[in-house]
Amino acid sequence: EMFGQLTSGLEAAWTKLKGEDVLTKENIVEPMRDIRRALLEADVSLPVVKRFIQSVSEEAVGTGVIKGVRPDQQLVKIVSDELVKLMGGEVSELVFAKSAPTVILLAGLQGVGKTTVSAKLAFYLKKQGKSCMLIAGDVYRPAAIDQLVILGKQVDVPVYAAGTQIKPAVIARQGLAEARKKNVDVVIMDTAGRLEIDKAMMDELKEVKRVLNPTEVLLVVDAMTGQEAAALVTTFNVEIGITGAILTKLDGDSRGGAALTVKEVSGKPIKLVGRGERMEDLEPFYPDRMAGRILGMGDVLSFVEKAQEVMRQEEAEDLQKKIKSAKFDFNDFLKQTRTVAKMGSMARVVGMIPGMGKITPAQIREAEKNVKIMEAMIEVMTPEERENPELLAESPPRRRRVAQGSGKTEQQVSQLVAQLFQMRVRMKNLMGVMEGGSLPSMEN
Ligand code: GDP
Repeated sequence: EMFGQLTSGLEAAWTKLKGEDVLTKENIVEPMRDIRRALLEADVSLPVVKRFIQSVSEEAVGTGVIKGVRPDQQLVKIVSDELVKLMGGEVSELVFAKSAPTVILLAGLQGVGKTTVSAKLAFYLKKQGKSCMLIAGDVYRPAAIDQLVILGKQVDVPVYAAGTQIKPAVIARQGLAEARKKNVDVVIMDTAGRLEIDKAMMDELKEVKRVLNPTEVLLVVDAMTGQEAAALVTTFNVEIGITGAILTKLDGDSRGGAALTVKEVSGKPIKLVGRGERMEDLEPFYPDRMAGRILGMGDVLSFVEKAQEVMRQEEAEDLQKKIKSAKFDFNDFLKQTRTVAKMGSMARVVGMIPGMGKITPAQIREAEKNVKIMEAMIEVMTPEERENPELLAESPPRRRRVAQGSGKTEQQVSQLVAQLFQMRVRMKNLMGVMEGGSLPSMEN
């Protein structure tokens, strides 16, 4: 079983939580130790493990209880989500050039499966209706050129080969000219690998890259490579500049280190994986499926997802009810503004939430500052005041007390109260619009 050792290593973590009611800072210590050990045994590099443990721990103590979900199940879900993130989140598609041919340069150490991948990739793209050509650039291994020619015939893709006496950069230039003549959609160049990274190899690759100006530079990595993958990927990325990686031999008895390391250390995603010696054994890399396989707990994951969905639904319905009965209070207000502030910080990180593009960092900082001020005032309100904002609206002494307690002015407290009532009106209108089906008016 792929990554079997990692899977069983992680299992130890879940069992430690049986019988607990909720995830706490204290009761996750042991499970975290198990997760850490399992990852290190899977040969994931230490800095990656450390960061991973940190984000899982933060998530674990920061997420509230989900109704009906046990803490161990919840931790499985959190680890899964973090594994998916670690591996790049979404599937990363190959990028194609605007004008043909798209050039894909393959690099990597010797024996990792580069030559095989070249032909597999051509076959893979051919199935998508793209015409391909291969360039044989592994001039230090005559057998590699023969091998590529044979594989090319097998998948019915032309191979440009010019022997071993010509420099790879020259082969690249000639091959690319040939591809233009043939009008192919995609050119894939196989290059020489060494047993270890050396300067001559890097210089040669740089030269080839300069000649080809490739759209994709993919580092082929053997899945058996453990934490050395970190140094390998980093070096190739810094020296050559890669756009992604292809992980080979995933069908073998690998521990998983490389799969979990590549994206985190280089910022470049694994785009494809090879899981066998046949030409059809190349497929896109799906971080979520991979995480699912590693954890081996698909049923738990979908169960927790459903429970989360139900909870979100209930919260939304609850809010709707409150708005309808004009019961939207300071507690809800706080929840709402915090969500908005969170989205703001996210927008700053991602920089691309639709519709948030026009918000400047200064505006986000301003909004976050406002949330802090509101929080300070709401925090010193009594529970009754939070639930019945009318109490504050009607009583200057109460507003004065809140102002003094929070170190704000009475005017700021009055503004906050007014804002809440405005929000009630606005949300009520919005609800009416949503139920009535007409477009919201943008006046207020
Ligand atoms: P190169 O030196 O990087 O060009 O490596 P090759 O393409 O010659 O492959 C080295 C060996 O690995 C060959 O025996 C391939 O059949 C084998 N190989 C390549 N990819 C895979 C894979 O995904 N799974 C398995 N099991 N073997 C593979």
